[in-house]
Amino acid sequence: MKYPKVLISIFLLVLIISCKTQDNKQASDNYAIVIHGGAGNFSINDIPESERANYIDKLNEALSTGEEILKNGGSALDAVEKSINILEDSPLFNAGKGAVFTNAGTNEMDASIMDGAKIDAGAVAGVKRIKNPISAACAVMEKSKHVILSGDGADYFAAKIGLDTVSADYFYTEKRWKQLKRIQLNEKNKLDSKMGTVGCVAIDKKGNIAAGTSTGGMGNKMYGRIGDSPIIGCGTYANNKTCGISFTGHGEYILRYVAAHDISALMEYQNLSLKEAMDEVINNKLKNNGGDAGAIGIDKEGNIEIVFNTTGMFRASLKSDGTREISIGE
Ligand code: ASP
Repeated sequence: MKYPKVLISIFLLVLIISCKTQDNKQASDNYAIVIHGGAGNFSINDIPESERANYIDKLNEALSTGEEILKNGGSALDAVEKSINILEDSPLFNAGKGAVFTNAGTNEMDASIMDGAKIDAGAVAGVKRIKNPISAACAVMEKSKHVILSGDGADYFAAKIGLDTVSADYFYTEKRWKQLKRIQLNEKNKLDSKMGTVGCVAIDKKGNIAAGTSTGGMGNKMYGRIGDSPIIGCGTYANNKTCGISFTGHGEYILRYVAAHDISALMEYQNLSLKEAMDEVINNKLKNNGGDAGAIGIDKEGNIEIVFNTTGMFRASLKSDGTREISIGE
């Protein structure tokens, strides 16, 4: 029996719409977010007991900020930027307000953000006046033709588009100054990267993944030094096809091993899981070559992984199913 063409067309249309609705439903149920506050070879006893609760509170606040955005259908990109802003505004972390000092006594910050849906990215490097470098990185992605702006040009760009800029003394904290003097007294050329760089990865209800990282770099770094954090594929990477990653640790190693992109590439070309890929890069490649590092990641199914080859890492994560984890130790 022959069906009229119009009936067949209606049937096909209904079929397509119902498949689409199912797709959207699947995509719209879940979200996840993970943040870090740096990894390093420290013991929980290095952190005064009175300060531990402050770290946990700040990580929680950053997590909740991202959660609110994701729960209400906001984008992963927005969740990453706003969560990192909370950590940048706190003197506890080595990013924004609490940035470490260079060997010349300046504060020079790096940050980057990546949108895994569009394979778009923005970064700032060696900036000295921007209150929230991650927001400047976002603006470079969204409001300039470029991917990375550095130094005075980046500071100028941020001021011009209306981001908050501050004078250099905003970044002075006694704790970081004393840390610099301590390093310089003991071992002039030593770099310090105990903890404090911040990062965030999120997946939103649409299944879009974003990742971002913000840092003051390594304490006592040579002025002018750029680390891994603003370099896309090294400190930060996101691709909806695979995962989002934010690194922390000794930047020179993370740079040489193009670590964040390497994790994504192992997933894309060798079908490794996020956990397997992170283990390979962090616990094999980086560790065996002397690179202290840790990273947070989320894959396209919303699985969260945190891997570090140091003794400790500050971290916190949550999923839309209600799972919430937070730790400032091993
Ligand atoms: N990766 C950062 C840098 O090398 C430092 C850190 O994560 O602790 O600049």
